[in-house]
Amino acid sequence: MPLETIKKHPGLWSLQPNLLDYENSCAGFCWDEVGREFDWLPNGKGLNIAHEAVDRHAEMVTGDRLAMRWLGQGGAVLDFTYCDLKRLSNRFANVLRGLGLGKGDTVCVLTGRIPELYLTALGTLKNGSVFCPLFSAFGPEPVRQRLSRGDARVLVTTESNYQRKVAPFAKQLPELRYVLLVDVEEHFDESLLSLRKMMSEAGEEFSIPSTSAEDMAVLHFTSGTTGMPKGAVHVHKAIFTHYTTGKYVLDFHPCDVFWCTADPGWVTGISYGIISPLLHGITTIIDEADFDEVRWCRILETQKVSVWYTTPTAIRRLMRLRERPRLQYDLSHLRLIHSVGEPLNAEAVLWGEDALGLPIHDNWWQTETGGIMIANFPCMEIRPGSMGRPIPGIKAPVVRRLNGDKVGVLEEPDMQGELALRPGWPSMFRGYLHEEERYRKCFAGGWYLMGDLVKRDEDGFFWFVGRADDIIKTAGHMVGPFEVESVLMEHPAVAEAGVIGKPDALAGELVKAFVALKPGFEPAEELRLELTAFARKRLGAVVSPKEIEFQPNLPKNKAGKIIRRFLKARELGLPEGDLSTLEPD
Ligand code: ATP
Ligand code: MG
Repeated sequence: MPLETIKKHPGLWSLQPNLLDYENSCAGFCWDEVGREFDWLPNGKGLNIAHEAVDRHAEMVTGDRLAMRWLGQGGAVLDFTYCDLKRLSNRFANVLRGLGLGKGDTVCVLTGRIPELYLTALGTLKNGSVFCPLFSAFGPEPVRQRLSRGDARVLVTTESNYQRKVAPFAKQLPELRYVLLVDVEEHFDESLLSLRKMMSEAGEEFSIPSTSAEDMAVLHFTSGTTGMPKGAVHVHKAIFTHYTTGKYVLDFHPCDVFWCTADPGWVTGISYGIISPLLHGITTIIDEADFDEVRWCRILETQKVSVWYTTPTAIRRLMRLRERPRLQYDLSHLRLIHSVGEPLNAEAVLWGEDALGLPIHDNWWQTETGGIMIANFPCMEIRPGSMGRPIPGIKAPVVRRLNGDKVGVLEEPDMQGELALRPGWPSMFRGYLHEEERYRKCFAGGWYLMGDLVKRDEDGFFWFVGRADDIIKTAGHMVGPFEVESVLMEHPAVAEAGVIGKPDALAGELVKAFVALKPGFEPAEELRLELTAFARKRLGAVVSPKEIEFQPNLPKNKAGKIIRRFLKARELGLPEGDLSTLEPD
């Protein structure tokens, strides 16, 4: 760790990373041994996420430790100890049991980041039921689609969400037996019920029924960046990965205050916003409000956040600030920053070092992997722009598809190919719900392939190139959009860039960039020419964009990711495909 970093963050002197020797840890790693970190249910009743995340701590001296601090939009603060979480999630488990719901029944939640969401998640898992989060900003159609495809039996939501997004379709959802409203005092009828009333009447003792490590626990819909979202099935055993990555990547220590900014509507908000920090018995921060530069910096300062997990979108937005946050806020307790969800440009890593006093650790994973797979570890020097190295227990070669079902592993460094994972890690998805064929197509030659293109350098660090669908073929060259976007981001005027291939009679495709500018910069022909020359100097004539178009904002899905297929469809005047997860402009 650079001395400068340690000087700015005195707390770092005393903390050693949990993973000190990467090579050795990988060599000696065995997933089965992770099981020893858990309590398991008494009398051989199996493994249950909520027991390991909450009850186990509640029953020990750690019971009074602060598990979750909720920061309300309007300034309210609610603290939950591990004992509080146990009692309240027991109540919700009893509510479900009282309604006759049990193993395998799916409970969907459509609310903002309110305490009920977290209690519902934990109580559902305790009851052996399946938790399925729905992002609160979804409109009626994406909600209907997920409730239907997810076989929802119960929906927990607000009255207004119900009236606007569910009631009009209620007849199309015969499986949906109960709607529990978080903000009404009385039941409407026998299926439209007041959650508050039911919680107040429910008991605080609950005995978790037998749940096996392989029982379905969480249903996560993917972000819908490449098309129609898929419902990835996850099981209780996923906590083996959540625990291991909490320890080795996020580097949790008992004194940590952790803040994961991802919404629980997405996998990061569940795996790391709830499960992983609780498995480690530490304190986690939940902020109800949406992104706001000043609010976020204040939270880092006042809550003394020590480990922060966020996204490239948020970092790029913070990069628009004129003043460096570390000069305005006391960030001395912060010791680690991580990012996931999209490629993190090298520029952003370096900005972190300068403006926050710490570099940003990028890591790679996806809804289907259930947990972090490739990461920049605290014990390693970061290579800006790289996603890092596979976590212990994960085999991740770069491969190329051959004929039929065969794939060839690319042993040479710096070769571009598809990222592959050896199936069998504990948090791997067990299927796409009701889409057996789509699931089967993810495997070839004994590997799981997700369509992400990468390179691995000679030291084993992975570099993201782009999604297979986004790769641009220009004049016989394969160009990854990320490389071009990252160079554009180095220009002081550029806040965001999205790059696509535009059909061209001569070159096959030409590289076209869409650029959003930082405050203080105006779209002008002069700046366009400057950016063109800037990119050309760094990337060369073939790879650099032939066209640059300014846009106030780039289209993103609700998970905050730039959707290149959408930029392309708009450019070509083609149908835009599934827009259910698109953010309005
Ligand atoms: P869909 O599968 O519905 O198209 P999605 O792939 O965006 O949506 P997620 O599972 O949320 O849904 O995202 C995982 C994908 O995000 C990865 O496969 C990868 O393409 C991208 N990604 C995640 N983290 C990183 C990272 N650190 N660097 C580059 N890409 C990343
Ligand atoms: Mg995907």
